[in-house]
Amino acid sequence: MINVLSVASECAPLVKTGGLADVVGALPAAVAAEGISMKTLLPGYPAVMAALRTPTTVLEDPDLFGAPARVLAEKVGDLDLLVLDAPHLYDRPGNIYLDKTGKDWPDNPERFAALSWIAAKIGMTGVDNWMPDILHGHDWQAGLVPDYLHSMGGTARIGTILTIHNIAFNGPADPSKIKALRLNPHRYTRDGFEFWGRISALKAGLMGADRLTTVSQTYAEELMTDQFGMGLDGVMRHRKSALSGIVNGIDETAWNPATDTAIKPYKTPKGKAANKAALRQEFGLPDADGPLCIVVSRLTEQKGLDLLLDALPALLERGGQLALLGSGDPGLEAAFAAATSNPNVAVKIGYDEALSHRMMAGADAILVPSRFEPCGLTQLYGLRYGTIPLVALTGGLADTVVSASPAALAIGVANGLQFHPVTSIALGSALARLCDLYADSPTWDQMQKNAMRQPVGWGPSARAYAALYRDTVKTAK
Ligand code: ADP
Repeated sequence: MINVLSVASECAPLVKTGGLADVVGALPAAVAAEGISMKTLLPGYPAVMAALRTPTTVLEDPDLFGAPARVLAEKVGDLDLLVLDAPHLYDRPGNIYLDKTGKDWPDNPERFAALSWIAAKIGMTGVDNWMPDILHGHDWQAGLVPDYLHSMGGTARIGTILTIHNIAFNGPADPSKIKALRLNPHRYTRDGFEFWGRISALKAGLMGADRLTTVSQTYAEELMTDQFGMGLDGVMRHRKSALSGIVNGIDETAWNPATDTAIKPYKTPKGKAANKAALRQEFGLPDADGPLCIVVSRLTEQKGLDLLLDALPALLERGGQLALLGSGDPGLEAAFAAATSNPNVAVKIGYDEALSHRMMAGADAILVPSRFEPCGLTQLYGLRYGTIPLVALTGGLADTVVSASPAALAIGVANGLQFHPVTSIALGSALARLCDLYADSPTWDQMQKNAMRQPVGWGPSARAYAALYRDTVKTAK
């Protein structure tokens, strides 16, 4: 049995701002089937603390970056949780990363350095008679784990892996914090955690971890290019031999149209009709001849939704409709609110898990025009619900959707549409083509069936992670 400590800043269903949480939440059960024992270390935010009923204290630290802290253990659902109870760092209301004004909490470097420090400490001492063989960190919030493990003297025994869910967030901190963050000043170099005159927790992990993964093969390739590497492409090229891409799966129990309690369940695309009628009613949309398209997304530059605003006429002119659920950038929120002056556009600003299920069930197509997308999950939910994904040809969107090219249609494997380059003109053409495909019922039916048949679960990826763990273990098992 290989023991893996997964270290992350979010985890569904307890605390989620994006796809990272889904992956961290699903991974333990997925790899358990492969003989991996995984515990998950999370910060003790209010929502996480509230999920604990009868925790046991498994580790105490008298001074964790300014105050005492402890690690609580409890099994919650499928998750073997280790929760870092450090009220001075995590017991605050609102967003886990941002203050009330939408800015990063000023002590984010310390908050996640503390998480990484405790992860390394658990690596050294174990908890509850359980010793990790591998520390598997996610994103910049766990980037300092290898450095801390090194300074504690644990790298000969314990393997380290860092998974990049999004390289756009590099975890910066002012170099005046080197000492306060308990970092080795000799590692403040280009070969260490220095990044353009600042500390970067992500770069520390990229340079220090034994193995690196990201969440699709195409994103792994893209990370090594100057267009997608966000200034870290040189680091990624340097670590090429340590890097692999493992595509995310989805939780096939939570996202199953045949058993989903949030919708009118269905097993074939025909069952979508009742959900579509309900969705139109919920969004106040009239009947229409064209496809009902949805967006479920953070509203940020990354997601390319400004392009959709420009391309929208191509959909609406052909009788299509748009229902959007999202929140984020105030400018985009306002622009989509303004777009509802057209009766075939409806928008809900906010975050609503149950509504996102009803949208997947009721829509004809889901639009994901991202400028970059490490993996993307909503196109996978779309496939599973027979909701045709129209996506940008990038990252995981390139790897998980089979575009309706003449060849793919001819052999009957198409399940979506991809467009390139990621511009409003190309998106507009793709929307027009989507409407044409929708109007061709036999072709559309076939695409929906193909979509629902496409494997989107964890099976192959869980096996890939297990193989990686076996490869990264340092002591004979
Ligand atoms: P990212 O992690 O970049 O936000 P992903 O597609 O990987 O993008 O994951 C986004 C996750 O968050 C999906 O599970 C999606 O359904 C969910 N999500 C995003 N915005 C909303 C929202 N407004 N309401 C409900 N779920 C949302």
